[in-house]
Amino acid sequence: MLNFSFQNTTQIHFGEGQIKVLSDAIPKTSKVLVTYGGGSIKGNGVYDQVAAALSEHTWFEFSGIEPNPKYDILMKAQDLIKEHDIDFLLAVGGGSVIDGTKFIAAAALFEGDDPWDFVAKGAAVTKALPLACVLTLPATGSESNSGSVVTRDGNKLPFMSPFVQPQFAVLDPSVTLSLSDRQISNGVVDAFVHTMEQYLTYSVNGKVQDRFAEGLLQTLIEEGPKALVAETKNDLEVRGNIMWAATMALNGLIGAGVPQDWSTHMIGHELTGAYGIDHARTLSIVLPAVMKVCTEAKREKLLQYADRVWNLTEGDEDSRVSRAIELTEEFFKTMQVPTRLSDVDLGEADIDGLIEKLTQHGMVKLGEHGDITPEVSRKILVTAL
Ligand code: NAP
Ligand code: FE
Repeated sequence: MLNFSFQNTTQIHFGEGQIKVLSDAIPKTSKVLVTYGGGSIKGNGVYDQVAAALSEHTWFEFSGIEPNPKYDILMKAQDLIKEHDIDFLLAVGGGSVIDGTKFIAAAALFEGDDPWDFVAKGAAVTKALPLACVLTLPATGSESNSGSVVTRDGNKLPFMSPFVQPQFAVLDPSVTLSLSDRQISNGVVDAFVHTMEQYLTYSVNGKVQDRFAEGLLQTLIEEGPKALVAETKNDLEVRGNIMWAATMALNGLIGAGVPQDWSTHMIGHELTGAYGIDHARTLSIVLPAVMKVCTEAKREKLLQYADRVWNLTEGDEDSRVSRAIELTEEFFKTMQVPTRLSDVDLGEADIDGLIEKLTQHGMVKLGEHGDITPEVSRKILVTAL
């Protein structure tokens, strides 16, 4: 396996009723800004639980962080932070609220001219306000990692900094019961693809990482569909397993010491940036095409995936590989997400613009070998038609 340094500093408070830990987990002397989205937390009682837990704190709130958080809205939090001397941020929501709060935290202490520079120009983030989160949508892993994705004028770009790693995250599976089927599907598929981006590359004999990744994939394949059918959808064990799998899929553990791909995400970001398609629904379209176009480079891992995740041991190598790709697409269909560009009403005429954006964003050497050039990305998108 490759050399690595691994540390995950986010403390996890998992289980029903855990929102109450906020009371002691955030210093009472802090001036807290609670950030949230469009109001789902008001409808499902999460806001009330947070308010009760913070009854002895001084706190303010900033709402309206929308899916695929936008720079312009996030910048509006800065005035509030200055006005009230905020020194702790608590994100309550899904990946968008957490990612947006990471941007707010870093922007608040940024010494350059425009915080967009640390997203688009690689300017260093050298400090950030401390933050923590209450996760309401298992999907992104943002609750326990140092990544964030922010959008400005249709440009959706990631940044990473250890300074925005949440100090702690509350994972209460019962708060996910109010999610729509669409958001449940999106979350399961995002977590699945995160795992694949760190697993389906080439072998460096990272046996521990591989077995963890295969376990996460199998858990999501087993539990994901259960969260969509009436008999099992409110089962807190199902919700809990999905929630923990999504966190583990992108908290640094399975990606330590192994090659990583991320081409599906980078191509997917352009689909969201240009057409507003839900993040996970871009991934379910792009991943099968990446698997098909990059079959040779990924052959050894595809065979391992076929064997260990789908129990495909019969037939020749080619048929096992194509069956594994087919089963991946079937899983996505069971999760009710699109697997083709045509499923979201896009066609050949849209590809040029997407390739132009990828190039403009510097996404010209994607994949674990850095060989997914714009021409290869075009092939992937054509395969996804
Ligand atoms: P999201 O965009 O945070 O939330 C989607 C919708 O779900 C929102 O409308 C939200 O409503 C609603 N929602 C959240 N929790 C709910 C609940 N318990 N009950 C009912 N509705 C609820 O979704 P996400 O998939 O978690 O985040 C996607 C974003 O994360 C994308 O921008 C993606 O690029 C990014 N991402 C980040 C990472 C990372 O490592 N940082 C990795 C992958 C993806 P409200 O607004 O009303 O709350
Ligand atoms: Fe993702």
